[in-house]
Amino acid sequence: MKLSQLQAHIKAFDHAPEQSEHYFLKLIEEVGELSESIRNGKVGQPDLDNLKGSVAEELYDVLYYVCALANIHGVDLEKTHDIKEILNKAKYQR
Ligand SMILES: [Mg+2]
Repeated sequence: MKLSQLQAHIKAFDHAPEQSEHYFLKLIEEVGELSESIRNGKVGQPDLDNLKGSVAEELYDVLYYVCALANIHGVDLEKTHDIKEILNKAKYQR
């Protein structure tokens, strides 16, 4: 799945621009859960039975709220990636 497809998928059922602050707080909450899963060593690619509390799950949760916030603020993350790549190549001489 492309990032633009993930953004569109999330926007189809979870898009409430009036709750921007709520989405941001959820993102921070998920970053905290990611920290805990890393500290607990729940790394690697889990299967369905072992996803709960894993780094994989929390990374996805962070990505979910990044996409939701991007949707609320009218940001196309793929286009932003393309622009940042140009800027970062110049900045870091890649
Ligand atoms: Mg989570």
